[in-house]
Amino acid sequence: MARIIAVALPKGGVGKTTTAVNLAASLAVAEKRTLLIDMDSFGASGLSLGFTDGTIKAGLFEVFNFITGITSAIHKTELKYLDFIPSNVQSLQMEERYMRLADNRSILRNSLRGITKDYDYVLLDCPPFLRGLSTNALTAADSALLPVKPGHFSLDAVDKLFNYLEWIRKVANKSIEVEGILMTMHEPNTRVTDITMRELQAKYGKYILETIIPKNTVLGEASFYGKPAILYSVNSRGSAAYLALAREIIARHERVQTSPLQPSIIHQFGQQA
Ligand code: ATP
Ligand code: MG
Repeated sequence: MARIIAVALPKGGVGKTTTAVNLAASLAVAEKRTLLIDMDSFGASGLSLGFTDGTIKAGLFEVFNFITGITSAIHKTELKYLDFIPSNVQSLQMEERYMRLADNRSILRNSLRGITKDYDYVLLDCPPFLRGLSTNALTAADSALLPVKPGHFSLDAVDKLFNYLEWIRKVANKSIEVEGILMTMHEPNTRVTDITMRELQAKYGKYILETIIPKNTVLGEASFYGKPAILYSVNSRGSAAYLALAREIIARHERVQTSPLQPSIIHQFGQQA
C-alpha cells in the first residue's frame, strides 16, 4: 500500500512544487513505484515534468467531475517508476468548478482508493493555501511534508499548518502524521537562515529532517526545461540533496530492507556533489 505524502505549507514560493517533483523523481530512481499528483490548479508540477495542455489527456478536474476514472488521468513520465496526474484546469470557469468540487474534502481520498495498491509512494503537490484542495490532500494523506524557506513568516506558516493538522485529525483524518520539516533554499551563514533555523529548532526541532536542500539554481533551471533536476544535471547539489531526502524517507519507512538506494543506482545518479 502506498504511503501518501502531502507536500504542503500555507505560504507561496517555499519550494513545495520543487520538492514534490524532485522527491518523486528521486524515489522513482530508487525504483520505488511513485505517483505525483498536482493538486494546484496552476499546474506547476506538470510544467516541471514537461507536460503541456497538448500532452495532457485528463486530470483531477475530470476525475472530480466523474468524467473519467482516475486510471485514465495517469500519465507516464520519462522515468519508468514515476507516474503523474495533472490537475488539468484550463480556464477560470474550470477553476471555480474545481474549487467547488473540492469543498467535498473526501473526494481525493475516495478517488485514490483503487490505485494506492499500485504504488509505494504517492506525493501530493499542494497549493499555497489551506482550503479545498489542500484539505483534500491532508484528508487523503498519511503524512504532511513541510518545505520551509528561510525568511520572515516561515514559523507563522508552520504554526498554521500544525494547527490545521489538529483540526484535520479531529474531523477528517485522525492518523495523519508529520513526515517532517524540510529546509529548502538553504544558504549557510546568512542571518536570515540562522534566525529561521533557530526559531524552528526551538519549537519544532524533533520534526526537522536531516536532509537540507541548498539554494541551487539548477533546481529552477531544470523546471524550465520540463525535467526533474536529476535528469537535467545529475551532479548538481540540488539533485544530490533530493536523492538524500529520498534515502532518508525510504530508510524511515522501509527499515527492514538492507539498502534503501541500491549501490548501482547511487553510482548511476551520482553521490553527493
Ligand atoms: P507556490 O506556493 O507558488 O506553489 P512553491 O511553494 O510550490 O510555490 P516552488 O515553485 O517550488 O515553490 O519554488 C519557488 C521558486 O523557487 C521557483 O522559481 C523555484 O525554481 C525556486 N526554487 C525552489 N527551490 C529552490 C532551491 N533549492 N534553490 C533555488 N531555487 C529554488
Ligand atoms: Mg507550487
